[in-house]
Amino acid sequence: MAFNHAGTTPARPLRLLAVGLGYYLGAVLGVAASSMSEGISIFWLPNGILLAALLLAPRRDWPLYQLAAVAAEIAADLPTFNLAQAIGFAAVNLFECLLAAWLLQRVACPFALDRLRHVALFGLVLGLASGLAALLGASIYSLSAPTTTSIWDLWTIWWLGDGMGVLLVTPLVLGWLQTPSQPAIRRLLEATALLALTLLLTAWVFSQGTTDSFPRRPFLLFPLPLWAAVRFGVRGAASIVLLIAAIAITATLNDVGPLLAATPADTVLLLQEYLAVLAFSSLALAALLQDLRATHDELDRLNCELEARVEARTHDLELANQHLEELASVDPLTGASNRRHFMEQAKVEISRAKRQGLPLSLIMLDIDFFKSVNDRFGHETGDKVLVALAATIHATLRGGDIFARLGGEEFVVLLPGQGLSEALLMAERLRLLIAQNVVPGCPAHITVSAGLAALEDASEEIDGLLRRADAGLYRAKDQGRNQVCPG
Ligand code: GH3
Ligand code: MG
Ligand code: MG
Repeated sequence: MAFNHAGTTPARPLRLLAVGLGYYLGAVLGVAASSMSEGISIFWLPNGILLAALLLAPRRDWPLYQLAAVAAEIAADLPTFNLAQAIGFAAVNLFECLLAAWLLQRVACPFALDRLRHVALFGLVLGLASGLAALLGASIYSLSAPTTTSIWDLWTIWWLGDGMGVLLVTPLVLGWLQTPSQPAIRRLLEATALLALTLLLTAWVFSQGTTDSFPRRPFLLFPLPLWAAVRFGVRGAASIVLLIAAIAITATLNDVGPLLAATPADTVLLLQEYLAVLAFSSLALAALLQDLRATHDELDRLNCELEARVEARTHDLELANQHLEELASVDPLTGASNRRHFMEQAKVEISRAKRQGLPLSLIMLDIDFFKSVNDRFGHETGDKVLVALAATIHATLRGGDIFARLGGEEFVVLLPGQGLSEALLMAERLRLLIAQNVVPGCPAHITVSAGLAALEDASEEIDGLLRRADAGLYRAKDQGRNQVCPG
């Protein structure tokens, strides 16, 4: 999770400069924002910048960012503190950021605030790291400068100040750099409206005196970061919270607004609590919604995958069914229809012929002395003869004719629309063709005998036709074979 993952982020020297400068400005602001709190900053933003940089940068770049932060801290601190104190504070801040970054990357890698679990971990780690750092910072402070404030109070202010700073800045930087931008014009208009409303409402709420007047209360602003979280995610929520925080802090430090309490310390605490709740709740909501969207997208993806798989399986099944159907209706050796399929087709054609009053005839063919072909030249040669014969018959048929292997070396051709005389011509043509055809690899002279039958009356069915054609075939065999006889 480095800067360069975001694609549009600047090169390393520029990033370093940005972190150094950001840290410096944040520190100057932080030092300035310490007037109400015994000298300890009530909003220490630089750590948020450094932590974001560490979380985004590759580990090998960490020392560079640390150097930039130390230089910026000393430069910002020196007008107010001595060098030893400045170095001490820089060390404490470095410790806090390194600890937080290291812990976050250990428990959630890659760390991104668009997941609720990461937001919760962020809160925990932040509390722990800034709490420990505050202990060190408060110790340095109370040991190196004369103060009447107890170390416990110093610790509280430091802790909350650091925590708040990070809570305001890190999500903002991560939100803007980790997620790709969506510059849709409608969203831009909505974002502008949200910003303007936030600016106006916050200024209105925080420009009053100390007296509360409903609805001009800090809680009036709560829907704004929530709106930002729902519509613009972590980046929107963090931006709106920062805007509210900037106005609230400025107003409160100038003794204006509804968050002024009896003592400066109570005021700071109230302000910190208010902004912490605002920031954390909107961050959590943005992350939760992002989680839900991710789950929804994942479900959609799984659903699509499932649908594609079901579709593929259905297609396979259809192919398998088609194949089975072919297997069940086609003779595997010759490719002609088998007896079962022929009977089905013949029934359909006969009833159509009867319905339409059209003629229909049938030719039954049987190879002559086929057994002797097998006996003399082998079963394989016999098979070749069957295949060649089927091909010859098939090539002679018209579109509507139905051709099948009834079994063994016996074939049948159904001729819808053809009467007995046409069937006779066709059978003769087939007989002659077969007799003239030399089957490659078969030295025997192959002939066929054929029997014929034509549909005569409305009561006749396929069995009757086959019986009559078979009778013709027997006659053809009896009369010397290689001839055609009507049944
Ligand atoms: P006919 O002129 O009286 O019809 O004599 P034929 O020898 O052709 O008749 P028969 O019914 O006695 O013999 C048919 C032979 O067809 C018997 C069988 O070995 C052979 N036969 C049946 N199916 C196949 C097959 O799929 N492949 C091969 N090679 N031979 C087959
Ligand atoms: Mg036979
Ligand atoms: Mg035969």
